[in-house]
Amino acid sequence: MSQSADILIIGGGLSGTMLAVQLLRLPGRRKILVIEPRAELGRGEAYSAVELGHTLNGNAARMSVDPDNPDELTQWLTEHIAGGGWPESAEQDVPVSELFPPRGLFGVYVQQRLAEARRVGAQNGSSVEHIRAEVVDLQVDAGSVQLTLSDGQSLRGGYAVLATGMFPAARTPQKASSGLNAAALDPWNVTSMRQLDPQSTVLIIGSGLTMVDAVVSLEQAGHRGPIEVFSRHGLLPHVRRQPPAWVDFLGDDHSLRTPRQLLGELRRQCLAAIAQGIDWQAPLDTVRVHIARLWSQATDLQRRQFVRHVRPWWESHHHRSPPLSAQLVERLHNEGRLRIQAASFKGLESSPEDGVRIRIRRRGESESCVVQGAALINSSGIEYDWRRVARPLPQQVLARGLVQPGPLALGIAAAGDGAVLDAEGRAAGRLFAMGPPLRGMWWESTAVTDVALQAKALAARLADRSEI
Ligand SMILES: Cc1cc2nc3c(=O)[nH]c(=O)nc-3n(C[C@H](O)[C@H](O)[C@H](O)COP(=O)(O)OP(=O)(O)OC[C@H]3O[C@@H](n4cnc5c(N)ncnc54)[C@H](O)[C@@H]3O)c2cc1C
Repeated sequence: MSQSADILIIGGGLSGTMLAVQLLRLPGRRKILVIEPRAELGRGEAYSAVELGHTLNGNAARMSVDPDNPDELTQWLTEHIAGGGWPESAEQDVPVSELFPPRGLFGVYVQQRLAEARRVGAQNGSSVEHIRAEVVDLQVDAGSVQLTLSDGQSLRGGYAVLATGMFPAARTPQKASSGLNAAALDPWNVTSMRQLDPQSTVLIIGSGLTMVDAVVSLEQAGHRGPIEVFSRHGLLPHVRRQPPAWVDFLGDDHSLRTPRQLLGELRRQCLAAIAQGIDWQAPLDTVRVHIARLWSQATDLQRRQFVRHVRPWWESHHHRSPPLSAQLVERLHNEGRLRIQAASFKGLESSPEDGVRIRIRRRGESESCVVQGAALINSSGIEYDWRRVARPLPQQVLARGLVQPGPLALGIAAAGDGAVLDAEGRAAGRLFAMGPPLRGMWWESTAVTDVALQAKALAARLADRSEI
């Protein structure tokens, strides 16, 4: 069986769905197919969350998916709450714009944007259909792109977009098949955590925002025992506050380029802010809009220096924790129940019936050691290197030479307009990418605001190219 469409969107998380929304809003008549194995579009991993405690890490004022209307989420949320939705929000005595919405609710907001865009698109004769399958192969010929799906179907389209999002890290010093993820609990699955002895010790690898979510899940599940967190640098995410605006010091000075210069200047700006009684987060937040430019201008050596020396610091200071989750982590830390240790994970030793044993090496120690807990949670993040992703599509497109790894093997390489670069470095005419696969091109390419901007720009380009 074969269907055809003007545009094939591979992946129906936030990226694929927002691209469809933007395409539907544009004049012209086009048929769009979104291929996504999940039951619902607009959610992906992030917005499939079911726990109210798993919230966005920015407040409503920062998380609109409409680049032309930064207040859109606040407006939607105001109506939603007035209509009786999210009654728990009343417990927080802050304006709606300052609420940190549960991610599952954010998924509903995205889905309503899609429903509205479908109505607008229908007036032009445009449509979006969700095909529930995984794309396992992709071929490009002179006039079209052909997809092979996990159920054996094939689809043909004028253009295809890789909106495949993030793949969970399974990498350990052992092979990916070491069983780490099989032995580990899902950080977001409260039901499975309810099976644990509440007083037992839980081990967590990684100390970023997924760890924060995992701690929220454990608390929700009634766990009251020790939590041992291991991460290479032992850094916890800072809490997100609402700093005032700060002078755009990078916008004014394009001479700052090397990671060392940038860091030095940022440090000076933060100290100047603190001296004036202003939050250090204010200068830091002005850097965000310049990241893509700075990263794409940098040499590979500078990028490597950044990843090696600045990344852990950047992650903990920039990817900040929502306040309620941060308060929980701080409380458990102060009570001595949560302990964070700078240690690198060396592998899974064994996962007997009554628990799990992992090998770690503490920072500054030459010998590794084994620690044991009742359960293990892997929050060590995302696998951006497509060569290591054990899914058919990344493997196939690499093997066919349709894509090449991006800078530092982060995602895949693309031209500035999102057209992927093939193994020879030629920009594809019919194959594009957006969101997390472009991490290596822009460094920050995963957050809601990144995805929303890319979706709008790519939709306009695809609409221009489309002959319809
Ligand atoms: C747990 C979590 C929390 C987050 N919280 C925030 C936050 O608070 N604020 C923020 O700004 N950002 C947050 N992010 C970043 C967030 O990922 C992005 O905002 C957004 O989800 C990226 O959307 P995406 O569609 O590109 O990727 P994903 O959400 O990963 O979706 C990609 C989709 O593609 C599908 N797919 C993959 N391969 C194929 C294939 N071969 N065929 C068909 N379909 C395929 C997958 O099933 C998936 O549904 C969070 C991310 C995670 C994982």
